[in-house]
Amino acid sequence: MTNLRIPGPTPCPDFVLKEMSRQMINHRGPEFAQILNDVTGNLKKIFRTKNDVITLTASGTGGLEAAVVNMLSPGDKVLVISIGVFGDRFASIARTYGAEVIPLNFEWGKAADVKEIRKVLDNNPAVKAVLVTHNETSTGVTNDLEAISKVVKEFDKLLLIDAVSSMSSINLPVDDWNCDVVVSGSQKGWMVPPGLTMLSVSEKAWQANTQAKMPRFYFDIAKAKSNLEKGQTPWTPAISVVFAMDKALKIMIEEGLENIFARHIRIANMTRQGVKALGLSLFADEKYASNTVTSVSAPEALDVKKLLKLLREEHDIVLGGGQLHLSGKIFRIGHLGFVSEEDIKEVLNKLRIVLPQAGFEVTK
Ligand SMILES: *Cc1c(COP(=O)(O)O)cnc(C)c1O
Repeated sequence: MTNLRIPGPTPCPDFVLKEMSRQMINHRGPEFAQILNDVTGNLKKIFRTKNDVITLTASGTGGLEAAVVNMLSPGDKVLVISIGVFGDRFASIARTYGAEVIPLNFEWGKAADVKEIRKVLDNNPAVKAVLVTHNETSTGVTNDLEAISKVVKEFDKLLLIDAVSSMSSINLPVDDWNCDVVVSGSQKGWMVPPGLTMLSVSEKAWQANTQAKMPRFYFDIAKAKSNLEKGQTPWTPAISVVFAMDKALKIMIEEGLENIFARHIRIANMTRQGVKALGLSLFADEKYASNTVTSVSAPEALDVKKLLKLLREEHDIVLGGGQLHLSGKIFRIGHLGFVSEEDIKEVLNKLRIVLPQAGFEVTK
């Protein structure tokens, strides 16, 4: 079997995939209502929230778009904290719908500096909401969301979070950290194929929703909420993915959230140590290095394209490259969701063989 080690889509266990082959059911019938209620209840346990959790049929970007259009009005000032590709994407979505974006960008590979966030909020009292990525998948950096949230809440702003590649894998207690809208996606740490995005919505966020004037139809979460009360969705959902999610959630609850986090920490540490033992260095500031994806700096001599090709064609291992200006400069190892020590050991062993073939002499 291919060792798919990209930061999403991630491999799915067979028992989850099997759910995908179930016969269709009436999405307005009692059987689906039961499943959707179970899924929603279990999602709340993983988000650790008493807030509503809405499941929409879309990839993670659809969830980010839903967060923007349901909370904001054209002309609203928003602070968008970006440390990479996905932070920039969140800003683009807000701009597309007419928000006035105040960008606060940090060097790729680094985490956001909370002091800078405070400064911008101090200077811009009209800011309505703060948009931030919890785990920046393009650079392998996890922001200190707890600290960021404290500052944002000092200023009493709405906090919208891209947690697509962290929720379910990295500690993010939604209620304890006062997060208003938190977005995730089924193909990341959830061991489920792409197709669903899940977002939690706080009381404060629902209040904002009543004032929000950005255009929306498919992603109208107020409609989703009123349908959810009947165990339904406004439009036909990706029923097969909901079956898979239902199964995956049950397995996750069984493993236990603390155990899942501990497994991700253990495997991430092992990945970072293994990479360094090969003589390579990490791209991310190690203090903030992600526990779901490791980004590795490519030394001058290393041909990243060739490395990824050799791994894929000769060893059936798929790693991620760098995005945009990081293309050729880094490669990324995904370790989220359905991942074990064995999967990473195999990657490290094969890297030891392939790195010299792609131009880099590893440490003996
Ligand atoms: C994967 C990802 C997304 C969403 O991407 P989709 O391809 O739309 O699912 C958004 N943010 C982050 C941080 C991600 O890792």
